[in-house]
Amino acid sequence: MKDRGSENSGQSQNQIVFSARLHQEVRDLAALHWPEEVCGLLIASKDSPNRIGRVVVARNVADDPQKTFEIDPQTLFDTHRAVRTSNETIVGCFHSHPNGNVLPSNTDRERADEDGFLWLIIATTHTGAGASGMYRIVHQTSDAPDDGANIRYFQRCKLTE
Ligand SMILES: [Zn+2]
Repeated sequence: MKDRGSENSGQSQNQIVFSARLHQEVRDLAALHWPEEVCGLLIASKDSPNRIGRVVVARNVADDPQKTFEIDPQTLFDTHRAVRTSNETIVGCFHSHPNGNVLPSNTDRERADEDGFLWLIIATTHTGAGASGMYRIVHQTSDAPDDGANIRYFQRCKLTE
């Protein structure tokens, strides 16, 4: 379990700079694609991983894009390759919730395999984009050696421009 100190530093860890322009771009895209989910990646420079520098929009290749999302593997591959030789890094992903719920779902938590990854969720309805939420997935391993329980939860991040 974490001590207080790391919890406090976690607070500033969860201030995410996300420009209004980029945020609006993702929200417009999400609204446009309702009732399907949109998805993509959040890119930052390695020096300032809490400042989203750009977003990469991906095709949602899920079988049922109204219920879930799956980032086009080609986009994943290309983006990983592009950042490998640059000063950038993939810090998170985004997707929309066409049911209007801004909270991460249980499925989201199960799929959040990369500790510290950011998850931006845009709630959408037939009238457009609603609330947006930025979350960071935290993986915790229990201290009890025979417990083996892994806990993971989303921390809500504070967005600043
Ligand atoms: Zn979701």
